[in-house]
Amino acid sequence: MPSFSKNEIVSLLNLKSQSILSLMSIANSKRFNNVITYSKNVFLPLTHICRNECGYCTFRKEADNSDSKFLMFPSEVLSILKKASAYECKEALFTFGERPEENEKLKSLLDKLGYDNMVEYLYFLCAETLRKTNILPHSNPGVLKRKELKILKEVNASMGLMLETTSTRLMNTIAHEKSPGKNPWLRIQTIENAGKLKIPFTTGLLIGIGETITERAESLLELRRLQNKYGHIQEIIIQNFKPKIGIPMENYQEPSLIEMVKMVAVTKLLFPDVGIQVPPNLNRHNAQIFLLAGADDWGGLSPLTKDYVNPEAPWPEMREMENLTKETGFTLKERLPVYEKFINPDFLDERILDKIQDIKIAQ
Ligand code: SF4
Repeated sequence: MPSFSKNEIVSLLNLKSQSILSLMSIANSKRFNNVITYSKNVFLPLTHICRNECGYCTFRKEADNSDSKFLMFPSEVLSILKKASAYECKEALFTFGERPEENEKLKSLLDKLGYDNMVEYLYFLCAETLRKTNILPHSNPGVLKRKELKILKEVNASMGLMLETTSTRLMNTIAHEKSPGKNPWLRIQTIENAGKLKIPFTTGLLIGIGETITERAESLLELRRLQNKYGHIQEIIIQNFKPKIGIPMENYQEPSLIEMVKMVAVTKLLFPDVGIQVPPNLNRHNAQIFLLAGADDWGGLSPLTKDYVNPEAPWPEMREMENLTKETGFTLKERLPVYEKFINPDFLDERILDKIQDIKIAQ
């Protein structure tokens, strides 16, 4: 696999003028084909309660906030999944704030439902999804212990955790000073344990939260180290920070288009073996440029739910995504929440493999 030194990556991220076009073109040449993939998903934000308070977050809500989704109950989850089945969604994206059971009200509600913590509750919902639908769970539960990952692997086709950054310095800034779970070493440990357990994994970096160019290079090198060791990373999301009214970082600047283009291109150069995704809902007008810089996946597109992490940015319609893709010279293709090369007993539990078989038969 490609090996770049930190200095080389920093130089690439600092390129100017025409050299940026050459970087994009080289990154583009690393593609295996002309296909841009997406997963037809349904978004299930189980709770907005979170132990962290990131300076850029709009998802987290206090328990007494009337807009807050305190907890999605099984009946609601199953009713959404039923609708998602009608739309032929293949991915149930379960997400929630990190360690929400640290909130006493939520903990006692989970107790009443018969669960000790959110991971247990999530396991139940994933198992129900597999039992009652032809939809594959993909969970994003935040930092987890190895034994929790091991249990969830039984009922997930893939899992995800954004590394965001390896910068411990940001733990003392507005971005992460109130977020114990954003300690990079906890996140690296989770991704590393997922590697040891052979869980197909989606991760990514958050760009523009105060990190330096050198720290971006260090974050990329850390992901490369993990991928070289375990080979379980299927997808890397390069997500741009967006200032939003009411968040602590409301007045911070988002990264420029050129900064993002260089990040995407350098990530593709370093990871030709991994899908590179830039969320199209956050980049409606620039999304095509990222395809030309080496991005090859649109991520989850939902015919059914809005993106609750960024509710102000509605998902572009499927037809619009098709047009954007075609116009750039690529072909849009649906994929499962687990990439093809991981669909084998080495990486997936028998229950997941059986469900994939059911989905293929139904198509
Ligand atoms: S961990 Fe996620 S949900 Fe929690 S505050 Fe940070 S960005 Fe928001």
